[in-house]
Amino acid sequence: MVVRVDENKCIGCGLCASLCPNVFKLEKGKSRVINPEGECENLENARDSCPAGAISID
Ligand code: SF4
Repeated sequence: MVVRVDENKCIGCGLCASLCPNVFKLEKGKSRVINPEGECENLENARDSCPAGAISID
């Protein structure tokens, strides 16, 4: 499993970092994936809740 954030879509709301702080980190107004293996029980929720549709899980 690989988690990605499309930085061109991300609006920096911080929701993903709130839900999964061990996977996402907000930097300079964008979410950055700090753990692409994505160990977080809220990961799918974060993807589905992202207002920009910027998170993908492959
Ligand atoms: S939830 Fe989506 S828009 Fe908000 S910071 Fe995360 S990736 Fe960006």
